[in-house]
Amino acid sequence: MQKLVIASNNPGKLREFQFLLQPLGIEVLTQSQLGIDEAEEPHVTFVENALAKARHVSRLSGLPALADDSGICVTALGGAPGVLSARYAGDNPKSDQRNNEKLLQDMQGVADRRAHYYCVLVLLHAADDPQPLIAEGEWHGEIALQPGGDGGFGYDPLFWLPEFGKTSAQLEREQKHAISHRGRALRVLLDRLQLSRGK
Ligand code: IMP
Repeated sequence: MQKLVIASNNPGKLREFQFLLQPLGIEVLTQSQLGIDEAEEPHVTFVENALAKARHVSRLSGLPALADDSGICVTALGGAPGVLSARYAGDNPKSDQRNNEKLLQDMQGVADRRAHYYCVLVLLHAADDPQPLIAEGEWHGEIALQPGGDGGFGYDPLFWLPEFGKTSAQLEREQKHAISHRGRALRVLLDRLQLSRGK
């Protein structure tokens, strides 16, 4: 597999996938380069949404597709924003800044700041591929009391990592990928891909 379409229009995710996959000799295309609209994400689980996105893009492009469905799950909020992370403060339009403001507001006065990022990746060789490759990753931290840093994207300015004394927006790019939910999931996926190639 040399060409892969990333089933996402999220610029933050696209930057991360390009950074991670291009050194492996995989040509990364984006669905917007191919004029493909965003898929609906109607499901309550990350994996169903990822499968829907990958199938949509693979069907319309005729190419292998990689979808990422991810989000931040806050313990004190019963796992919210979860699958709704991208549109927590509404989707007209989606806004990282408004999402972060809403999350800070919802967490005002809350002592339990535990949260984790979750990412599931689904790779389809074709739209009707009966054996999708699926990999997950989690990254545990806390919700900061105020935003910090300008790296990363999404909720990174609020994702506090006590062991680093930094938010994930204050980590170097390589550092984030080494430990992030997406970095972990991608390493598992690439191992599976190699195994499936060896069959
Ligand atoms: P999706 O496109 O429906 O999977 O939405 C993913 C959303 O989860 C993003 O828009 C971000 O709000 C959030 N998210 C996922 N991964 C990250 C990350 O690595 N950093 C910050 N926010 C993330």
